[in-house]
Amino acid sequence: MIYIFLGAPGTGKGTVSYLLNKKNNYKHISTGNIFRDLVKKNTKLGKKVREILKKGELINNELTFKVLLEEIEKYNLKKENIILDGYPRNIEQAEILFEYFNRYHKDLKISAINFELRNKIIIERLTNRLICPFCGKIYHKTFPELKPKKEWYCDDDKTKLITREDDKIKSIKKRLVIYDEKTKPLIEYFSEKGILIELDVNDTPNNIYEKVLKICQN
Ligand code: AMP
Repeated sequence: MIYIFLGAPGTGKGTVSYLLNKKNNYKHISTGNIFRDLVKKNTKLGKKVREILKKGELINNELTFKVLLEEIEKYNLKKENIILDGYPRNIEQAEILFEYFNRYHKDLKISAINFELRNKIIIERLTNRLICPFCGKIYHKTFPELKPKKEWYCDDDKTKLITREDDKIKSIKKRLVIYDEKTKPLIEYFSEKGILIELDVNDTPNNIYEKVLKICQN
């Protein structure tokens, strides 16, 4: 089963994916995490990717599908619950994905869950977000359930937490514009395919997790 998590940055897709992975063994594929890992390698490609991420722009569709494919092929798509977090992000990426599924994984069950939240709340969430640069776990300065046990340090591996380079206000605004222009049309696209589930995510992380789990188990 494939669950596509659709929604602007800061709507909680990564946090819910993390919880579904930890508690329910759902496989979490995040193209954003894959690119951040690539940046850490500091290769020529990693440096190029870093500049694009920093500006809040999208990586080209060809490279994005290549890195996604490398990850997705590690799993048994029919037997496992797979979350695609942050892919597809435009219509062309969706078409590439569905063409691939139609060709190599026919009859796969696919749902798209749209995480819906107002921009004002998104900006508040992103400017208070922290991330572990080692494991990618997401924290939040004000959400009690997402605060690290020891301030500024990852609960799991004790690495010092950082603010993502693209969680600065200039990049956030750019990412929201790109989301409206490129990603939002996917709501209509998935609705026409009859696989869209709308979800209001103006709630606490644990409640959103519970709601998503219920949807996935139905
Ligand atoms: P995320 O962690 O999902 O917010 O992604 C962080 C950044 O990675 C995005 O702002 C893009 O620069 C890049 N990225 C992640 N997923 C994609 C995608 N599907 N297509 C293009 N760029 C992506």
